[in-house]
Amino acid sequence: MKRKGILIVVSGFSGAGKGTLMKQLVRTYENYALSVSMTTRSPRPGEEEGKEYFFVSREEFEKKIEQDGLVEYALYCDNYYGTPREYVERQLEKGRDVILEIEIQGALKIKKKFPSAVLMFVMPPSIGELKKRLEGRGTESPEVISKRLKRAAEEAEGIEQYDYIVINDKLEECVLKMHTLILAAHDAPVRNKEFIENMKKELEALC
Ligand code: 5GP
Repeated sequence: MKRKGILIVVSGFSGAGKGTLMKQLVRTYENYALSVSMTTRSPRPGEEEGKEYFFVSREEFEKKIEQDGLVEYALYCDNYYGTPREYVERQLEKGRDVILEIEIQGALKIKKKFPSAVLMFVMPPSIGELKKRLEGRGTESPEVISKRLKRAAEEAEGIEQYDYIVINDKLEECVLKMHTLILAAHDAPVRNKEFIENMKKELEALC
């Protein structure tokens, strides 16, 4: 049976450490493909075009929407963020699990369009730790930090709609936990419909 790739949606409060976690997951295990989003926000120091994001103008982003070139998109703290369609479809066809690191509005759109997607929410060990990480990053102004904390409070309302929460305390442990949950999700009946149907048909033919 050919292994089918699934969509893994990873959300979490800004500063929860999703980026580091995802990079480590992809580095440690072979079968993952990390989708690079398109955004209208400005690059942070050290961010590279095509690596963290494809940085585009508002006009370019809106053109991509018109062309139906995005699997989902959302407005987050005054900027657009979206998932380019082509890469995702190509990787899934190859049987790879595609990771989308996206916020909650996009995550819920994916859940509707792709019911077999696995939704994970990364949480910091505590809110004190979250604030410390956001301030420690040193790349955002106090105004942006407070906007992001407010947004975190809004996102917390939707956590119950995710399949799993993952607490990001120790990096390696958290990466292993995510990988294990994804492996288990592959074996759920909802993600093996074809295999089950075929077996049922073969059984019926024998009766
Ligand atoms: P940041 O500006 O910190 O890189 O990202 C802000 C938020 O946008 C994060 O919660 C991140 O997960 C989310 N995000 C990044 N790419 C996408 C995307 O393609 N679609 C959606 N809906 N959210 C995204």
